Amino acid sequence: AKKEGKNKFRLFEPEIQSSIERSSTIRKKLSEICGSHYGLSLAYQPIITHDNSQYNHFESLLRWHDDELGSISPAEFIPIAEESGLIHHLTDFVVKQVVNDLQEKVSRLPDDVTFSINISAFDLSKPSNGLSTLYDALNSNPSLAKHINVEYTETALMEDEALVLKNLNTLREKGIRIALDDFGTGYSSMTHCHHFPVDIIKIDRSFIHDYHSNVASRNIVDCIFYMADVMGLDIIVEGVEDQQTCESLKSKAFGMQGYFFAKPERLESFLQSSD
Ligand code: C2E
Ligand code: MG
Ligand code: MG
Ligand code: MG
Repeated sequence: AKKEGKNKFRLFEPEIQSSIERSSTIRKKLSEICGSHYGLSLAYQPIITHDNSQYNHFESLLRWHDDELGSISPAEFIPIAEESGLIHHLTDFVVKQVVNDLQEKVSRLPDDVTFSINISAFDLSKPSNGLSTLYDALNSNPSLAKHINVEYTETALMEDEALVLKNLNTLREKGIRIALDDFGTGYSSMTHCHHFPVDIIKIDRSFIHDYHSNVASRNIVDCIFYMADVMGLDIIVEGVEDQQTCESLKSKAFGMQGYFFAKPERLESFLQSSD
């Protein structure tokens, strides 16, 4: 840094510098596609429930392929979309695509099919046209509600708790089931389930992946099962990756999800296999 002269200094290490540059590139690209939704698509991952012989529950997961950057993980771009206020454009895309998939492929789907939509805490705690798109779809076709679940993660970003509560209550009144995602991590708590209209808890995969090898994880998970039962909540376990975990959780959980059963894929690939 000395070579660069007395008045010049490097604020950041190169790695930090390049990660800041990547974030701002992603932010810029997201703002360019928010109208066209260019490069966005949905993958669906089955959620296995008791003795279902064909897949009927799916979680929709957003995918983004950029011509220059390639495929970018939602774990990377969703937080950037949230910080920059662009998230509701993404939610808008997801809702439209899910509704479209439900309507277009309805004849090839089981009657009791449900699609889960991940809704950001920002969609619930700020005015969001992503959520308005969902309300519009439900108003014009109320029978969609029984086919849609909404998943959200409790975060510190829920500034306006009254609005979160109002939105969740509205969704539920319309017939949508509400799932609390990533349970056990971050801010999510049983107290939250007590105050907010939650129907389903999704236990985070960080507790599931070492359920067998780690006594602490096993105790936490068993404790969540116990409390959920007392509170009348259903449980979905995320990140089931092996037979052993599947066997020990299948009688307790309402639903199971993970690479052991299926990875997220285009919806078509699941429809073909069930035809
Ligand atoms: P999530 O909602 O908890 O979704 C589950 C994530 O775990 C997905 O990652 C899924 O591919 C992954 N997963 C499922 N089974 C397994 C397994 O057995 N092993 C492992 N290692 N991973 C498994 P994905 O698709 O990369 O999404 C990451 C996160 O990004 C999601 O976590 C969610 O928080 C967010 N996200 C994805 N799509 C959307 C969306 O449409 N809207 C919003 N707001 N957030 C989204
Ligand atoms: Mg989810
Ligand atoms: Mg999440
Ligand atoms: Mg999760």
